[in-house]
Amino acid sequence: MKNQTDNFRIDVDTAVRLIADHMPTYPSESVSLESARGAILRQQVVAERDQPPFDRVTMDGIAIRSSALAAGTRSFHVKGTQGAGVAAIPLEDDSNCIEIMTGALLPDDADTIVPVERIERNGDDVTLESGYEPNPGQFIHRRGSDLKTGQPLLEPGTLINAPAMAALTIAGTAMVSVARWPKIVAVSTGDELIDVGNPIELFQIRSSNDRVIAAALEQRGCTTAERACLPDDLDALRRSISTMHEHNDILILSGGVSMGKYDYVPQIMDELGVRLVFHKILQRPGLPMWFGVSAQNKPVFALPGNPVSSLVCLIRYVLPAIRASLGATLPEQQTVRLAETIHFESNLTCFMPVKLGINSDGDLRASPKPTNTSGDFVSLARTDGFVELSREQNNFTAGEPVSFYQW
Ligand code: AMP
Ligand code: MG
Repeated sequence: MKNQTDNFRIDVDTAVRLIADHMPTYPSESVSLESARGAILRQQVVAERDQPPFDRVTMDGIAIRSSALAAGTRSFHVKGTQGAGVAAIPLEDDSNCIEIMTGALLPDDADTIVPVERIERNGDDVTLESGYEPNPGQFIHRRGSDLKTGQPLLEPGTLINAPAMAALTIAGTAMVSVARWPKIVAVSTGDELIDVGNPIELFQIRSSNDRVIAAALEQRGCTTAERACLPDDLDALRRSISTMHEHNDILILSGGVSMGKYDYVPQIMDELGVRLVFHKILQRPGLPMWFGVSAQNKPVFALPGNPVSSLVCLIRYVLPAIRASLGATLPEQQTVRLAETIHFESNLTCFMPVKLGINSDGDLRASPKPTNTSGDFVSLARTDGFVELSREQNNFTAGEPVSFYQW
């Protein structure tokens, strides 16, 4: 079995394409605006009203008519006071003004605002500052000048972040159609793994991968991620993975996919009828990554156990594939320039952890921070993500543009 799969090594782009070809589309659900943050929008959102919905005053001051200014009037009688959120008080006469606040509806028969700093008040009368000439129509944000009723505000695929929340609110959307996150379980496998809070022997290690995977999912808006940690026991693994497969839409396993005696994951997948799509990618770290799809069309990602490999594979393959299945139209990577020259003597794609910084010219640059081993998780905490260095190239010069993936 293991020898058989040795022939399946593929490159990074082929792995991305094969995963995309096998990912299902997840359904939509209608949620209240309160719980929509971080979700992927599945509907178009249009303006409920003109924006602004009325001629909106943008300064505290007085509302007057410009025809009065043209006729030489400089003093006005304060007919009333009007704040935001109430109906307009009409001027009725050129000699009148309305004391008015920012956000108020402009009275129909007024067309100019004079800021409070430019007037002098004397009882119920105000006089314009000597020499001050207001521009007719000033300090009014006209109805519909930003957006007309029915115009699109947000398109399907948008991540509902803080500004999108404002757009949904302006649209008066109480319930919103978003992609429903599939149920995902992140499973660490290994006899040496002990969760925090339990005593630990010299030969054991803390299990971090399931927590890291769940955290990365949650960071991207997933509300359905669960965790588990299983020993390298063939029967126990078979039973637990079978149950988890039944109760979840996506399995993300870590560990047990290499060539060791206790690396049972590919064998168990085969027994459970999960069809192998690929095993091993021409990349470092993360070469032993395994991907398959069950008879129920559920994707199974089995990542190498080394913590750096596991996280890199998650960010490079698993998360973009899930987000694409949710309908997200967000870019998953950005282009940055290398801060230093890198030499990488291998025909594998290299995923190099980097720290982003600004150079002396004020440009964003990625400084390589190679880890000691793919188990060296500690140094990752001081990095921002990784860059992808093509396997067709061995030398990458300082200033060269490369794809960057954020943790
Ligand atoms: P494996 O892929 O199972 O051969 O594991 C490779 C290396 O990663 C071993 O040194 C494991 O102890 C380590 N490892 C596997 N799973 C985890 C985990 N959940 N948390 C931290 N380290 C792990
Ligand atoms: Mg193991």
